[in-house]
Amino acid sequence: MTALLEVRQLEVVYNRVATAIQGVSLEVPEGSIVALVGTNGAGKTTTMRAISGFLPSEDAEITDGEITLRGERINGRMPHQLAKAGVILVPERDKVFSTLSVQENLAFAGREGGAITIERIHGYFPLLRERGTQLAGYLSGGEKQMLAIGMALLCRPTLLLIDEMSMGLAPIVIKDLMEKLQQISRELNLTVLLVEQNAKAALSIADHGYVMESGRVVFTGKAAELMTHPDVREFYLGGAGQAENKSYRDIKQYRRKRRWWG
Ligand code: ATP
Repeated sequence: MTALLEVRQLEVVYNRVATAIQGVSLEVPEGSIVALVGTNGAGKTTTMRAISGFLPSEDAEITDGEITLRGERINGRMPHQLAKAGVILVPERDKVFSTLSVQENLAFAGREGGAITIERIHGYFPLLRERGTQLAGYLSGGEKQMLAIGMALLCRPTLLLIDEMSMGLAPIVIKDLMEKLQQISRELNLTVLLVEQNAKAALSIADHGYVMESGRVVFTGKAAELMTHPDVREFYLGGAGQAENKSYRDIKQYRRKRRWWG
């Protein structure tokens, strides 16, 4: 069966010279949550930009590979064309209109229809109803994220792309948001691709995970398996490797040496 989103051997170059990602392949099956994790500069945002059509605004282009949505090639389409096809991005920054109220933000995004109404968004995030008249710029980081997800849902996504949902948020807020996202995905059968530096948080709700490093996918598997894999744990989930900021490749080498020296 074809996955909803398929990325095959993707290569992206910035400013016509700098290759940011190379040979990146991933699949996002319908109704699933897939996590794309990795450290700073690994190429996660670039992959998201390629899928959502936002490369040209960064002077970047796809130089190789293919992206398909339900089997149809979508390489090089503009963001508004992709949004119409249901590919909706919650970006890393500038996700809400700060000078509009919460309800104005929702109304602006809103194409209510089917199962997704502002009423339903209020059901998921009651705080957005309570803060309806407040300017979005005065919301906390977690509240802005709720509003951004609400706005994205009102765009009626087939595929929801979320870039760094947990950035700058307290652990308890991250946990609540992740659980809410999992509930929303289940209830609406919504397909989600989640880009995160916080691998633990993302993998805890994902079905499948991909680990990126230096522009390539270095690891992939079921999220539950990645969570227990010794190398992934050591580097990404709070082991010694993470503290020393080693790369996944460094750890492989270190393990090999350790075996060699006994
Ligand atoms: P972060 O979590 O820091 O955003 P990331 O995994 O999302 O990291 P990218 O932002 O995709 O990584 O960066 C991948 C590579 O592309 C890096 O080498 C980065 O310097 C480069 N890059 C990213 N954005 C641009 C840009 N607008 N112009 C030029 N190079 C860029």
